[in-house]
This record gives sequence, structure tokens and C-alpha cells, in this order.
Amino acid sequence: MKIMTGIFAFVIFACIGSFIGVCYDRIPKGEKVWKGRSHCDVCGRTLGVRELIPIISFICLKGRCRKCKGKISIASTLIEIFTAVIGTLAVIVYGPTVQGIVFGFAACILFEIALLDQKTLDISDTACLLVALCGAVLTVVNGSYISSLIGMVCVSLPFLVITLFGGMGMGDVKLMCAVGILLGWQQTLLAAFFGVVIGGAAALILKISNKKGRKSEIPFGPYLCVGTYLSMLIGPQCIAVYLSLL
Ligand SMILES: [Zn+2]
Repeated sequence: MKIMTGIFAFVIFACIGSFIGVCYDRIPKGEKVWKGRSHCDVCGRTLGVRELIPIISFICLKGRCRKCKGKISIASTLIEIFTAVIGTLAVIVYGPTVQGIVFGFAACILFEIALLDQKTLDISDTACLLVALCGAVLTVVNGSYISSLIGMVCVSLPFLVITLFGGMGMGDVKLMCAVGILLGWQQTLLAAFFGVVIGGAAALILKISNKKGRKSEIPFGPYLCVGTYLSMLIGPQCIAVYLSLL
């Protein structure tokens, strides 16, 4: 039964990953996400239904267009696999419960936010709203209204102050406000902690290797997304260990 749940979740999240791949490809170009089916980048031909099956189509076609034999980018397939893995992992950790399913979806949205922030230095309001919506569902199901309310402001408010001094983007503030509703205040603090530590380490490595000159060129959103995902999966255990040390 567990294996079947895992396979089912993997298929669903791979399909969502396929959509994220479309977003990743089209949003930076200013194209409409919903308009028109995907097409071959080389010959421009609209892809058939059988060529749009996530992961499987790419393997069957050996990464080439059926007609012109031009190379199909592996990026969208990697996005499908990664989305499927992180979504399924959330369902495995929390089981096929409302919490597990909502966390799975939220993980997908966080991945989309991270990908696009990396590429465009922008976090969309729609994506933040979707995370907040996932949070609202869990808040109602768990009855954790107070924790979510505190979560909304406990990180986003300090971030807002930093933003006013130009150290951060408004997107990061909105993201952590949404994450606060999703995770509640304790796990949101942990998410920010993970994000700052990982982001700081990454910035240091980039600075040493001289890949990025100015600080503002490094988007913080992806690290906050990684931090949120980690806090989502192992947060309760980390908090329990921390409290036992006090
Ligand atoms: Zn082609």
C-alpha cells in the first residue's frame, strides 16, 4: 500500500513538475503560461500528446525531437524528476494525510519560486499566494490559528525592516509571510534560520570563488525555499532536540 501511494504521488508530482518546467521556460520570456502546447525548440513543431508525458517521453525519444531529431533540452525533464522527488518525500514523511498532500504541493510551489527567483530575481505574488493558500488549508484543518498568525509576522516583519534599508527584496518578505501561515511560528523561525545559514555559506563561497561581484546579485529566495522545505520535513524533530537542550 505504501509503495502504491509513493508511486501515485510520484506520478502526480511529475505532472506538476511538467507545468513548473513550462513556467520556468515561458515566464522569463514574458510568454503566457496557459497559452498553447509546448513545441520543439529546433523545428517549432507543436508536440503531440504522446511526447508530453513527463519523464517517460524524454527517455523513449532519447532526448530528441521525433521529427527533426533536434536535441530536446534536458532541463524540463530534470525539473520533472526533482519536483516528483521532493513532493513524494513530503507525502512519505507525513503519510497520505491532508498535511502530507498539502506539504507536497507547497514543496512544488517553493521549487518553482526558487527556480524563477534564481533566473529572474523576482518572486511572483501568485506563487506566494498559493503557498499562503496551502497554509490556510492546514491552519483550518489543524486549528492552528494563533501559530499561523504569529508565523505570518515573526520573520516577515524583521525582513521588512531589512528591506527598508535595501538589504533584501519585497518578494522575500511576502514569501516568509506566506511560509508563516504554512508552517506556524516555530518552524518558520527555523526555516529562516536554515535559509540564512545556507544562503550565507553560499554567498561566502561565491565571493571567494569571485563568481558574483555585488551582494545584490545573489537572490535570497532560493535559500529561503530550501530552508522552508527542510523545516517542513525535519522541523518538528529539530525543534524537539533544541527544546530538550534548554
Ligand atoms: Zn523538432
